[in-house]
Amino acid sequence: MSDCQDSFRIEIVEAPRKSRQFRAALFDFDGTLSLIREGWQNVMVPYFCEILNEVVDPQKETADIVETVVRDFVDKITGKQTIYQCIQLAEEVKLRGGTPLDPLLYKKEYLRRLQRRIQGRVDRLSNGQAKPDDYVVPGGRRFLELLRDAGIRLYLASGTDEFYVKQEVELLNLTQFFDGGVYGAQDDYKTFSKAMVIDRLIKINNLSGEELLGFGDGYVEIENVRTVGGYAVGIATNEANPGQGVDNWKRSRLLDAGASAVVPDFSEPEKLFTFLFGGSQ
Ligand SMILES: [Mg+2]
Repeated sequence: MSDCQDSFRIEIVEAPRKSRQFRAALFDFDGTLSLIREGWQNVMVPYFCEILNEVVDPQKETADIVETVVRDFVDKITGKQTIYQCIQLAEEVKLRGGTPLDPLLYKKEYLRRLQRRIQGRVDRLSNGQAKPDDYVVPGGRRFLELLRDAGIRLYLASGTDEFYVKQEVELLNLTQFFDGGVYGAQDDYKTFSKAMVIDRLIKINNLSGEELLGFGDGYVEIENVRTVGGYAVGIATNEANPGQGVDNWKRSRLLDAGASAVVPDFSEPEKLFTFLFGGSQ
């Protein structure tokens, strides 16, 4: 079981119908293709717990309960822009009788802490000490090549601020694949969502939802792709140990979100491609 070959398995909930002709694919970035922000939950969750623990009545809610509450909402909102997790934190503070800060300030502090964790990775990629593929989810580049060569139009949409997404896609040398564009969170957060990117790409390319493929490790992109009738592949990336099989927590959340199939990563790109395209392209 510890053999890498054995760790790749396609868990099929619903196989793609033969009649489907995929023409476009939407990818999430963090955790789906990129490992640069690996561990962001271990920055966000303790920080949010810190804030909530300042206002809870410890008689009513122990630190363990607070952590469960935080993990739960952080997880549910994963894939949306970071600001929504901060808005929810502010709501939770209010619910417990506290006076929250502006959610933007929570976001700023979270990003400051996260930056401390990931700056070393960004620096190593920038100065050439690390290779782009050191931080690409296993098989990701080859899988993108297969899609591109099959003429699939590729889009990337992330809940991380667009400036950073574009910079990190570039550091991983993946920009070239996304002929449909790279999209991320905006300061004016109401002007961006993955659902908006999907609506736009469907219109621009004159697609039916059936022709859309989606890949993501979070709730939101899976739900959004399914809502329009697309085929959503959950990537249950084990970010701390890439290539070592699924992250079970992610897997169960992706299945809950309605994933059509779940894989641990792209480490057998040809196999995944053949499963999706039936070897016909
Ligand atoms: Mg993600």
